Amino acid sequence: MTTTTIGVDIGGTKIAAALVGAGGELRGPVLRAPTPAAEGPVAVLHAAADLARRAAAAGRDDRGEAPVACGVGTAGAVDADGRITHATGSLPGWRGTDVRTALEAALGLPVTVHNDVHAMAVAEARRGAAATARDALVVAAGTGIGGAVITSGALVRGRHGLAGSIGHLPATVRTGRPCGCGGTDHVESYAAGPAIAALYAQRAGLAAVPALEEVAAADRPEASEAIALAARVLGAGLAAAATLLDPDVVVLGGGVLGLGEPFVAAVAEAMRAAAALPGPAGVPLRVAAFGPAAVLTGAALLAT
Ligand SMILES: [Zn+2]
Repeated sequence: MTTTTIGVDIGGTKIAAALVGAGGELRGPVLRAPTPAAEGPVAVLHAAADLARRAAAAGRDDRGEAPVACGVGTAGAVDADGRITHATGSLPGWRGTDVRTALEAALGLPVTVHNDVHAMAVAEARRGAAATARDALVVAAGTGIGGAVITSGALVRGRHGLAGSIGHLPATVRTGRPCGCGGTDHVESYAAGPAIAALYAQRAGLAAVPALEEVAAADRPEASEAIALAARVLGAGLAAAATLLDPDVVVLGGGVLGLGEPFVAAVAEAMRAAAALPGPAGVPLRVAAFGPAAVLTGAALLAT
């Protein structure tokens, strides 16, 4: 007998859901809806439950199997009870929300809740770029920078659900740039997508901060400098984490991959250059194998 699970991805701008099989394969379409973040947590939970129900119905049409559980990956840090312990401004009021209890009541199914990057890492570890690895460090660099540690094939959650938060390690350069957490000069301050775009805009004297794609396409030295600095800071952060964890592989995903293969190569080179010990210096850096369904797939796998 196979089991199917509903996977749900709650992000700051959109929610995605799909029915997922026991091996992590999609059993139906990935449905998406905007996150009603400004309306508060109750509206977000309502939208997530509604999308989960629709995804279950759409997937059931294909195979006739009812889901046995629901796995949620969400922005923010999540404790073992499925409650949000920390959240950024992308989901106002999200901190303190008991996601598990609310969705169990709404769906009538057991629900497990994890941080979105933790969920993504499980998808990569079971079926993606870290599938052959025993120990892996998985990093998602996009609007923010999150990370996850897989050891002996299992996710390290951490007491506050914050294990692997590489974005908030100190950066190797100190120029007083703000971080999404309220601190300054963290890895995220230089290597997150908006940070790269902001640095480019500042150096090029632009009135508005452009999208990351425009930075990638800009034929200006200020753009190359901002991207090179991001690669250097991220590479050094990965080297520090790899020195601590000595993983089999480091997996990089997220929106910064839109900067292309030269960026990934520059991060890998910076990681090698910054690693103090020969083993971690040689750890392979792989690009994430999963696309936009990574979080909901990993969340579903964590629910069974
Ligand atoms: Zn920070």
